[in-house]
Amino acid sequence: MNMNRRSVLGLGGAVLATTALAPGWKLIAAPKRTEARAGRRWAMLINVGQCNDACDACTTACRKENNVPLFGDPERDIHWIRKVELKDKAGKKPSVQVPVLCNHCEHPPCVDVCPTKASFIRKDGIVLVDKHRCIGCRYCMIACPYKARSLVYQQPEFPEGGNPEVPLRGAGVVEKCTFCVHLVDQGEAPACVTACNKTGEGAMYFGDLNDSNSEIAQKVAEVATRTVRDDLGLKPQVHYQGL
Ligand code: SF4
Ligand code: SF4
Ligand code: SF4
Repeated sequence: MNMNRRSVLGLGGAVLATTALAPGWKLIAAPKRTEARAGRRWAMLINVGQCNDACDACTTACRKENNVPLFGDPERDIHWIRKVELKDKAGKKPSVQVPVLCNHCEHPPCVDVCPTKASFIRKDGIVLVDKHRCIGCRYCMIACPYKARSLVYQQPEFPEGGNPEVPLRGAGVVEKCTFCVHLVDQGEAPACVTACNKTGEGAMYFGDLNDSNSEIAQKVAEVATRTVRDDLGLKPQVHYQGL
C-alpha cells in the first residue's frame, strides 16, 4: 500500500494519549497494536523510475523520525537509508540514485552470527537489534552484504526537536533501519514512505506481501521487480522496480 494512505493496515489512526514524563519524553498509552504475526511479510517496493535523483525526502524523514545521529564527521555519521548512485557498466542507461536500506532479509546472516541474540527476526519478517543485548562486536556488520548496519561510535545527544517516541541508542551499539516498527505496529507506514508520497513522487510502497489484496503484493505480481544480489539467497524484502 503506498503512502497516499497513512494507515498501512486500514486500522485507522491510532490515538496516542500522552502524558508528560520528563522534558522531552512521553508515556505512550497503549496504542492499537498489530501483532508481530507469523504469516505477515512486511516488504517495501521502490520504483526507481519514480525516484527523483535530487530528492532526499526519505533520508531526511528517517533521520527525523528515528533520531538517527549525525556527528558532523563523515566517518561516524550514521545513515539508516541512503541514496546510492547506480551506473550501467555498459553505459547504455543513465546513472540513477536509488534509496538503499536494510533489506529485512528472510534469511538474515546478521542474525545468524550474533553471539548474544541481540539481532533477531520477528515473525512478520522485521529484523531488529535489541540495544540492551548488543555488545558491539560488529560480527553482524561483517556478515551483512548490504552494509546496512552502523556502529554508534560515540554517545549521541538527543536532537533538538527529536522524536520522543524513539529512544536513542547508546555508544557501542550497532543499529540500522527498523522498517519503522514503532509506526508499523500502530498501523502506519514507515516515515520514508510517507515522506516520499508527500513529495508527490510516490516511488515507495510498503505493506504485507502475503496479503494478496495489498497494493504492494499486487504491484509485485504485476510489474517486473528485482532485489539486490538475489543470488546470495538471503531473500531481501526490499524490492526494486525499474532496476
Ligand atoms: Fe541483516 Fe543486512 Fe539483511 Fe538487513 S540487509 S537483514 S542487516 S543481512
Ligand atoms: Fe549482535 Fe551487537 Fe555483535 Fe551485532 S554487534 S553481532 S547485534 S552483539
Ligand atoms: Fe528509516 Fe523507517 Fe525508512 Fe527504515 S523504514 S529507512 S527506519 S524511515
